[in-house]
Amino acid sequence: MPGGHSQTLRPFLWRAEKLYGDTEIVSRTHEGRTRHTYSEYADRTAQLANALDEYGIDRGDRIATFCWNHTRHFETYFGVPNTGAQLHTINPLLPDEHIQYIVEDAADEIIFVDASLAPKLAGAAEGAAEFDDVDFVSMGSDEIDALDATPYEEFIAGHSTDYDWPDLDGDQPAGLCYTSGTTGKPKGVEYTQSMLWSHTMASQTPQGIPMEDSDVVMPVVPMFHVNAWGMPFTATAAGAKHVYPGPSPDPADLAALIEEEGVTVSAGVPTVWLGLQEYVTEGNDVDLSTLDTVIVGGAAAPQSLIEWYDDRGVEVLHAWGMTELSPIGTVSHLTNDLRDADYETQVDKRSKQGLVVPGLEFEVIDEDGEEIPWDGEAFGELRIRGPWVTQEYFARPDASEEGFEDGWLKTGDVVTVDEDGYLQLVDRTKDVIKSGGEWISSVELENAIMAYDGVSEATVVGVPHERWQERPVAFVVAADSVDRDALVEEIEAGLREEYPKWWVPDAVEFIDEVPKTATGKFSKKDLRERYADQSLVEGSVPEDDAPEGE
Ligand code: ADP
Repeated sequence: MPGGHSQTLRPFLWRAEKLYGDTEIVSRTHEGRTRHTYSEYADRTAQLANALDEYGIDRGDRIATFCWNHTRHFETYFGVPNTGAQLHTINPLLPDEHIQYIVEDAADEIIFVDASLAPKLAGAAEGAAEFDDVDFVSMGSDEIDALDATPYEEFIAGHSTDYDWPDLDGDQPAGLCYTSGTTGKPKGVEYTQSMLWSHTMASQTPQGIPMEDSDVVMPVVPMFHVNAWGMPFTATAAGAKHVYPGPSPDPADLAALIEEEGVTVSAGVPTVWLGLQEYVTEGNDVDLSTLDTVIVGGAAAPQSLIEWYDDRGVEVLHAWGMTELSPIGTVSHLTNDLRDADYETQVDKRSKQGLVVPGLEFEVIDEDGEEIPWDGEAFGELRIRGPWVTQEYFARPDASEEGFEDGWLKTGDVVTVDEDGYLQLVDRTKDVIKSGGEWISSVELENAIMAYDGVSEATVVGVPHERWQERPVAFVVAADSVDRDALVEEIEAGLREEYPKWWVPDAVEFIDEVPKTATGKFSKKDLRERYADQSLVEGSVPEDDAPEGE
């Protein structure tokens, strides 16, 4: 048969073990740091695979994780998919109802859960039939009583460190991640072996987020977000040292890891890097000399952030991606022509979302259905396709019908493209708010608010915020007779009960009428523009209300 072997993850780990057996995988825990080598990692991954076999996991079965970034979580990254099973990473920051929906939709067999996240999972599982057939493994060394979870070390103990990894087809589902990027129920995106393989290889090109065997790679982006943007796979393909920042790392934790482990490449949403910047400007002395590159994505990287890190010899690579893209789509490298340009021009380009990664194609379609010119002015919806772009949503023909056209993924992002090919995101057609890298569904909040007596109309809008990029603000139309202060209190208390604290709008404002578009829809653009000065969200979210780990 012509052609090569299937594109799968197996060779990446095989090579790392053979060539870099002594290279370290470090993890921060509450009790200190753990250290393993690739060699030990490969053994433990085989033990995990044997344990899953003994448990009765078959090819195609789904295994979930409910975890922060740490080595055991990373063990599932190869240990699960390389057997032919599918790794489903669950976002523990979601509202309980979403978690219940996701677990039922994926029909997970086992959930690996961190001890610190067990109360959250137990809360979501309580009385929920979706969890009846699920078993739990505790990622700590202790049992978790609430979930009757087996300790991970006990789960893998005694199993052989050899495993006869099967030959898998490229189209074997390897991963699953849900996105709540639009209204309604979360949508699953399946990653096949070949999608993960091609995403890793494209990441490794100079136009991607390349790494070398000399690198020390620290993914701060949570591993429940699109496989930590694929970094654990890319770092393994490179044979780099891994550093996992563990549960809810704060800037001091990150600073210590960077300094003491010699981190060279890291990645996270702007909030993370703004947090570290603030920590340094507050007077904490942090040695960033080993840090070459931080990949900033998930939300727009402010120009001032790029400049601040430049001043300290750290290159910010601004990247754009989506769950549907495994996730990387564009990276803001400088083209050869721009390498001699003045600094201002360069920073201007680098703060755009960037150049399409080799292997993908895109088109930008305006409201008349025409492709826009590349002039940096005209805008339209970005559509994209390629080997690591999904072509449908998991078990959701309705969402797939809506989200794709002629093989293109309709991203819901509105962009311009300049003469040099740099994409810039100027708006979103999807009605959501992204705060600190996490989605908040404005439509869910609106429906919840409209259920209160005295509210005749309500709309929730994302208002720009320096630290969190966006914060929700609710605009409410109420009858004159209503006691407004009491209503605000009631709404806020109610939302606090029903949703994670950081979903609660920073302000509830009364207006006479929700502005409408020509077709009668709520015009959020109008409200966003009216409140673009941030005056409603000055106070920002209190520290402990923030989406942890972001
Ligand atoms: P991720 O976990 O990578 O953030 P999601 O699927 O949750 O992926 O979110 C993808 C969306 O986030 C994009 O469609 C876009 O709206 C927004 N986004 C991602 N990267 C950027 C960026 N660099 N600048 C602005 N928005 C971004």
